[in-house]
Amino acid sequence: MTRDKESRSMPYTNSGQAGTGGVGHLTALASEAWGFLNHSTDLWLAGLATPDLVRSRATHRLNSLVAHARRNSKFYRDLYRGLPPAHVTLEHLPVVTKSTLMANFDDWVARPDLKLDAVLQFTQDPTRIGRPYLGQYAVWTSSGTTGTPGVFIQDPQALAVYEALFAVRNGTDARSMLRSISGGSRFAYAAAVEGHFSGITMWRRMLLMNPWMAHHTRAISVLQPVVSVSDQLADFDPQILTSYASELVALAEQQREGRLALKLNGIWSGGETLSRRDRADIAGAFGCPVIDDYGASEFLNIAFDCGCGSLHLNRDWVILEPVDREGRPVPDGIASASVLLTNLANFIQPIIRYDLGDSITMLPEPCSCGSPLPAIRVEGRRDDTICLERTDGQLERVIPLALCTAIEERAGVFRFQVLEEAANQLVLRIDPSEGNPNEVAARTEQCIRGYCAELGAQNVFVRTDPAPPQVDPVNGKLRRVWALREPAAAGPV
Ligand SMILES: [Zn+2]
Repeated sequence: MTRDKESRSMPYTNSGQAGTGGVGHLTALASEAWGFLNHSTDLWLAGLATPDLVRSRATHRLNSLVAHARRNSKFYRDLYRGLPPAHVTLEHLPVVTKSTLMANFDDWVARPDLKLDAVLQFTQDPTRIGRPYLGQYAVWTSSGTTGTPGVFIQDPQALAVYEALFAVRNGTDARSMLRSISGGSRFAYAAAVEGHFSGITMWRRMLLMNPWMAHHTRAISVLQPVVSVSDQLADFDPQILTSYASELVALAEQQREGRLALKLNGIWSGGETLSRRDRADIAGAFGCPVIDDYGASEFLNIAFDCGCGSLHLNRDWVILEPVDREGRPVPDGIASASVLLTNLANFIQPIIRYDLGDSITMLPEPCSCGSPLPAIRVEGRRDDTICLERTDGQLERVIPLALCTAIEERAGVFRFQVLEEAANQLVLRIDPSEGNPNEVAARTEQCIRGYCAELGAQNVFVRTDPAPPQVDPVNGKLRRVWALREPAAAGPV
């Protein structure tokens, strides 16, 4: 996401040493070890199955999920009133959106004592990132591509499925990276780490479950200038690195220019679309394999990189329905306008035919790896990196995820758009739903100027355009950070 700081997934590992620290609150985490092993076996077997068998597993899980939602979620019970009592086909179920679900949060969740106010109190405390909520759930927040803040709760079964998917569904390079992390290789995670986002939440959970990993892992905030991120990486000297595609592009530039000399064995890219060119550039600069993935706060591991150049949909645990602008199904081989997601693993907060907003293409040709899981392509899930001229004359790349996180976390504004119209000249557009236009604009402008100053650019001019955020006329998508000037104008960084 941001498009997608939260919705990127990240590699995490369950070494089977859960709870070795003997700390009381780890009991719930340790109890997932059985679920993890159970699901790992199931996933391994599904990888050998036929596409029809995979589909029938998904249908069986969907029927259980819908029945559970009708029984335990008032929101879905009301929404599905009038539908036949059993085994409704997916396409007859109404589509839901994040804004509707969040507006009905207390009725949406499948446990009456889960209340949004209490969950928000939990997510406002940064010391509790990655800690179990009510002794068993993981909680994370997301703004996503729509700009609507979301709060997502994951039950132990969903967490065990996500962890098993990471452990089992991957290519040779990814498997060898996971083995090396479990074996003690230094592992760095450069991301938005200051909030309860899914990536840092799973990272902290991994350390709670495997306290022995703390001394060879490091999480680094990408809200800092690229040079500071580089310095911390150089100091830590990781062998495995995971970050967003745009941050990896900026770090690859540092490596190529000789300002960074990391000796990496592997890189995980997530959260944004990784173009073929960027992948080649990053791999070339660091001289190691680059693994892609596709995930969201709504389902962490939607698709995995098989190592043969494809992302494969985890079709047995997540359903994707590509749709056009009118919500009609889109055939294989055609890029969708959006996609409806159904999470078959998480029953505490059912997500069924949820409008995710991403554009995807189901590829009609099977992949050379022979997987029964369909190959997909994710289109343009990435905003623009802007380039500031710092007060000391140097240029500073600002990745979109960092700028969006600064605005969301510090100004409390979620529905906005920042346009770079010239060097150090930014235009802000804010959705009227954010409140008093003058007050919100002043607060957000000040936040952007302050953040740019932290990055070393004191002389950034920000003005607010009274128009609301505009979609890209080419693809109909909202870009939250949009570089209007030619990328070449930014010059070498
Ligand atoms: Zn493949």
